[in-house]
Amino acid sequence: MAYKVPFVDARKHYATYKKEIDGAIIGCLENGDLIYRQQLKTFEENLASFVGTKYAVGLNSGYHALHFSLLAAGIGPGDEVITVAHTFVATISAIVHCGAKPVLVDVGRDYNINCDLVEKAITSKTKALLPVHLNGRISDMGRIMKIAEKYKLAVIEDSAQALGAAFDGKRAGSFGAAGCFSFYPFKILGCFGDGGAVTTNDPAVARAVSLLRFNGEDRETGEYHYHGYTALLDNVQAAVLNVKLTRFFPKWVEHRRKVAALYHEGLRGVKQIQIPDFPGKSFHDVFQNYVIRTADRDALRAHLKSSGVETLVHWMKPVWEHKALGLGNPALPETAAICKEVISLPMSAETTPEQVETVVNAIKDFYKR
Ligand SMILES: *Cc1c(COP(=O)(O)O)cnc(C)c1O
Repeated sequence: MAYKVPFVDARKHYATYKKEIDGAIIGCLENGDLIYRQQLKTFEENLASFVGTKYAVGLNSGYHALHFSLLAAGIGPGDEVITVAHTFVATISAIVHCGAKPVLVDVGRDYNINCDLVEKAITSKTKALLPVHLNGRISDMGRIMKIAEKYKLAVIEDSAQALGAAFDGKRAGSFGAAGCFSFYPFKILGCFGDGGAVTTNDPAVARAVSLLRFNGEDRETGEYHYHGYTALLDNVQAAVLNVKLTRFFPKWVEHRRKVAALYHEGLRGVKQIQIPDFPGKSFHDVFQNYVIRTADRDALRAHLKSSGVETLVHWMKPVWEHKALGLGNPALPETAAICKEVISLPMSAETTPEQVETVVNAIKDFYKR
C-alpha cells in the first residue's frame, strides 16, 4: 500500500540529489577507485572535522564501530560495560562479542541513559560506560564524563543516531575514547548500503581500529598485528557520504529541527501524548527520530495507518525478552513501559510541512473520537 505520508522516502531522496550522487559514484567507477582510495580518506577527514576529533576511521557498519572501539579500549573477558537496554541490539552484541558482560541500566524520560543509576551499577569489573545517544539527542555527557573520570572508566559513545547532536556546543562522538557512527540508509547521514565510522582523538585507538578493519594488517609494513576483520567502509559509499556530508547535511539537520518544531506546535495541546520536547539548554537535538509516547499506542498506530500515515516502533519488546540472547532479566521499568508506549512518526530530510499537518490532524482526529 502506498502511504500518503511514508516514514521515509528513499526514492524521493535519490531523485533530489541524483546529480551529485551519480557524480560521486561514477567518479569512483571510471577511475577504478574501489578500495581505500582518496574518496575514503577525504570523507574521514571531513567527518573528523565535523565531529570535532583528530581522527575518523571508515568502517562497514555501526556495529563494527562499536566492536572495534571496545577492543581498542582493551575490553575483554571478565570486564563489565555499562549501557542501556533501550537501544538497537548491536550496541549490546558488540560488548558480548568482546567476551565482556553488558550491564544494562534504565533510561530517563528523554530515552537516554539515566545517570542517577550509573554509579550504582559500577563494580570492580566495570571498565567502560557506553551511553547511547538515541533519536538524535545526546546523553548528559557532563554527568557521564564526571562519573567516568571518578571511576577511571573508558567512555564509548554510541552516536549511530546522533551525528550533529551536541552537549554544551561539543558534538556527539567527541567526548569519549571513541564515537561510533552508522551510515545505514535511514540514519541521519545514510549511504546506499551499510557503513559506519569511529571518531577519536586518541592516535592509538585510531590505529587499532584502522588495523582491525584490514584483517589486522599494517598496509605500510605488511605486518599483521591482530586477528582482524574485513570491515572497511566501501570507497564508493565514502564518495557518496562525502558529498552528502559536505554539501547537504547541515541543511538536513536544520530541516529536521523545523519538522520537529512543527510537530511540537501541532501536538503540544494533545494531552494524551508526550512529545519529545525535552528541557536542557545544553542539548542540541538533531531528531534522527520523532518519537511520541502514549498509553493508546496500538490503537493510535492502527488509526494512523488507516489514515495513510506510516509509523514505526523501536522496539516492540525489551531486548532481554529475546531469550536466545541470554541477557537475564535486568527488570528496567522505564524501558519496559517505553516498549508499549512509543511510536516514531515520519521524519526525514524529505518530510514536508504538509505531511506533518496530515499526521498531526490524524492524531487529533483519533483523540476527538
Ligand atoms: C543503527 C544503530 C547501530 C548499528 O548500526 P549498523 O550500521 O546498522 O550496524 C547501533 N546503535 C544504534 C543506536 C543504532 O541506531
